Amino acid sequence: MSALLKVDGLHVAYGRVEAVQGASLSVAPGTIATVIGANGAGKTTLLAALMGLLPSKGAIAFEGADLTRTTAEERVGLGISLVPEQRDLFSAMTVSENLELGAFRRGRREIPERLDEVYQLFPRLKERRRQEAGTLSGGERQMLAMGRALMARPRLLMLDEPSLGLAPLIVRDILSTVSRLRETGVSILLVEQNARAALRVADTAYVMELGQITLTGTADEIAANPRVSEIYLGGA
Ligand code: ATP
Repeated sequence: MSALLKVDGLHVAYGRVEAVQGASLSVAPGTIATVIGANGAGKTTLLAALMGLLPSKGAIAFEGADLTRTTAEERVGLGISLVPEQRDLFSAMTVSENLELGAFRRGRREIPERLDEVYQLFPRLKERRRQEAGTLSGGERQMLAMGRALMARPRLLMLDEPSLGLAPLIVRDILSTVSRLRETGVSILLVEQNARAALRVADTAYVMELGQITLTGTADEIAANPRVSEIYLGGA
């Protein structure tokens, strides 16, 4: 099966600091690929470059087409959405207003249908649709950030540390929603420091260390790797 996203030899630098040094990875259609790694490994930088928010060198192909010269907005139009680590919500706007912003490229006519789909996936957001985003819990904010990205009807959803700052039960909830999304045909690139949670839902896994992908395999293979177990899974 040909890859939905294929990245070859990606380099991203902040001035002289090379945060991503020749990373290669791919996401197959209808699967979850995860990139695990410690704080500062370059995971957020990788996603920002794939979204077109940072300049990069190397090849990025989406459905076989070269993305190198496309802007972030064009990438959204092609079907790529990013849920950033900071979640970037508009606190003084309601849940439904935040969601509607995610569909701005698709035109107003599609909004009710998209909202219905997001509310089906996250019934909690429906209950809270008239509430200001600033009043939501951490888990609800993560759901809203994901819901907003889904309003653009992406083929590839990139998630930057969705588990960050959330209690284990909520992390489980969020990741089970990610699995359900895969069943609806959305492919996922999941970046996580929480390796244990990420490896549980992913099909393919990459370990990133100091800007490089140092291990690649199925999620089961990576979880069974002794070094991964020692460094990222607490020796379990
Ligand atoms: P985290 O889990 O903390 O987000 P990460 O794996 O996503 O970590 P990055 O945030 O991509 O890592 O950072 C990779 C490297 O790039 C780090 O050494 C970091 O200090 C550096 N870096 C990140 N952002 C900038 C920036 N805006 N300017 C300069 N250096 C940066």
